[in-house]
Amino acid sequence: MLDANPYSMLLEPVQIGPVTARNRFYQVPHCTGLGHLRPRADAAVRGMKAEGGWAVVSNQETEIHPTSDLSPFAEGRLWDGRDVPALRLMTDAVHAHGSLAAIQLVHNGNHAQNLLTRAPVLAPSEMSVDTSHPKQAQAMDKADIREFRRWHREAALRAKDAGFDIIYVYAGHNMTLAQHFMLPHMNQRSDEYGGSLENRVRLTRELLEDTHETVGDSCAVAFRFAIDEMMGTGGMQATEEGRAVVELLANLPDLWDVNVADWSNDSATTRFQPEDGYQNAFLSHVKQFTRKPVVGVGRLTSPDMMLSMVKQGIVDLIGAARPSIADPFIPKKIEEGRIDEIRECIGCNICVSSDNLGIPIRCTQNPTMGEEWRRGWHPEIIAPKKSNADTLVIGGGPAGLECAMQLARRGYQVTLAEAAAELGGRVGKEAKLPGLAAWSRVVDYRLNDLKQRGNVQLFTDSRLDGDQVAELGVEHVFVATGSHWRTDGMGRSTQRHMPQIEQSANVLTPDDILNGLLPPDGPVMIYDDDHIYLAGVIAEKLATAGYQVVFVTPESLVSAYAVNTLEQPRIQARLIELGIDIRCNQVLAAAEGDIARIRCTFTGRETDVPCASTILVTERQRETTLYDSLRWLGLKTLELIGDAASPGLIVDAVFAGHRAARNFERPKAEADQDWFRREIIDLEETR
Ligand code: ADP
Ligand code: SF4
Repeated sequence: MLDANPYSMLLEPVQIGPVTARNRFYQVPHCTGLGHLRPRADAAVRGMKAEGGWAVVSNQETEIHPTSDLSPFAEGRLWDGRDVPALRLMTDAVHAHGSLAAIQLVHNGNHAQNLLTRAPVLAPSEMSVDTSHPKQAQAMDKADIREFRRWHREAALRAKDAGFDIIYVYAGHNMTLAQHFMLPHMNQRSDEYGGSLENRVRLTRELLEDTHETVGDSCAVAFRFAIDEMMGTGGMQATEEGRAVVELLANLPDLWDVNVADWSNDSATTRFQPEDGYQNAFLSHVKQFTRKPVVGVGRLTSPDMMLSMVKQGIVDLIGAARPSIADPFIPKKIEEGRIDEIRECIGCNICVSSDNLGIPIRCTQNPTMGEEWRRGWHPEIIAPKKSNADTLVIGGGPAGLECAMQLARRGYQVTLAEAAAELGGRVGKEAKLPGLAAWSRVVDYRLNDLKQRGNVQLFTDSRLDGDQVAELGVEHVFVATGSHWRTDGMGRSTQRHMPQIEQSANVLTPDDILNGLLPPDGPVMIYDDDHIYLAGVIAEKLATAGYQVVFVTPESLVSAYAVNTLEQPRIQARLIELGIDIRCNQVLAAAEGDIARIRCTFTGRETDVPCASTILVTERQRETTLYDSLRWLGLKTLELIGDAASPGLIVDAVFAGHRAARNFERPKAEADQDWFRREIIDLEETR
């Protein structure tokens, strides 16, 4: 009942121009890596959010014209009428659950490289494209601006035809023409579109007016605006021009969707922005200047925070991208008083990395994300058990915990045995490293669920061997025993030339650090051949503890893979600030006594680096001893999952655990078919 719910205010409807959101939960636009290439899968993602209770479900940035071609990335596309049916899949899926569908129209200006279309790149002034692609944009003349406005109007009409209820004008993330015109460093024009703020905002004003005029009778016009670039006086600030833009456009949009730029600031990770609700300070100016509803974001997962934001008048609608990815059912859970069932985003940006890699979205916390259409997975529903079989899961890391939880949800009897004193495996330990505390949510969510189930037995301090498993007599066994870091220096850069690691060298691995060991006094070298977060976090921990740290990597950047999670520049900056000696483009050649020898990846020149110890962050070896000993038992099910099967990221382990539980007692041929489900290009229509 609405009144009995302390969060009932969040369930109130909100009028947005000519349409009404049934509650205050608003999934703001976010990429899925599915977009125009995989429209059925994209529609299924969005439909799931609507089913989970989000009153508004947006798609992702949607290119309005071939001069805004983001290929090879699969964003939305609405170049002409032939794109409408694919987008209608989404609006139908969203409407089926009584929610509103929003579309984020975009022209990306010099952020679009136009690699597919080879069209000219457009910008307010002459400038390069904003990637390292060697191409320049041309300054738009008045005729170009008129054309752009026409494309936007025509795209809005097509969007309405596709069934969208809310249509965006988008000036955010430093990725769109409307915003590029606003920013003085990108707009050096001397006509009425350049110079004063009023002139720089003119194009946005025109787009908002055009969109109202074209579709405003039945569609709401939303404005997504980056109010602050988070670079102080070096960029737009919420207290200065950002606020002036709100004043200038005040009641022109039907909805203000306000955030910060660039994307790395908007989608900050918990490592660098641990506080949920971190954009509130930037949002608080907006409502003073407009009567129209405001939606804001900032990794909002806590219903208490959401409520206080509405009560304080910071926002009218609770915006979410990542929280809605980690848990598409947050609104339903709040509505039904199931707060402790919320699967909180951990702020790792693995979802973001999918988009940057041009692959379908995935999520550490929600293994069903992106698999709704392909595998028919639902985040809250799983097929009931097919028999009364007992199951045993060995290893309580992310793979084992997820597998056990899903088997238990299916109704099977589950025994989970973990060798260590605590459940959580690698993620439990990694969460104790600097900046990674929120990662414990992976464990907390699953343990909370498991502990409430009568069909689950959890054992810690229980390292099992083959005989013990045989004695238990359980015939369905999932082995999630994880992996350990190599001590021999083998890694992707050392396959041809293994480093010579002498007995006299003091070598440690991340496992030592995770188990609480510290290197001996003296300088420590960290050799990173892993390239995501772990080596950098260990470097941070040791430097903060007073060690002199030398960070060596064969890559040209520190934590190079973290470019995909938008963290790389921050990681490198932090290591520099901590006084860490960074040596890029160097491979480990040898370690002996107090010396490590490194070799330049280009010239082969070698350098000796004095260090009392070396931490090798290279590769992992799978823990398969137990699995190997069980192979001879003739068990009905014996499955190796997670890092024990294939060391990877936490997201991979969770996914593997989930898949194993879903496929348990499912015909193998049927399960194998899942790999082949794709959206095949239709060869019939050629023009
Ligand atoms: P994953 O990421 O695949 O879940 P982890 O390394 O995080 O892997 O977790 C594996 C867990 O398995 C660790 O917590 C480890 O203590 C546990 N483990 C390893 N061998 C055994 C065993 N023989 N019996 C019980 N638990 C084990
Ligand atoms: Fe949150 Fe990580 Fe999932 Fe993205 S991948 S939604 S950041 S938990």
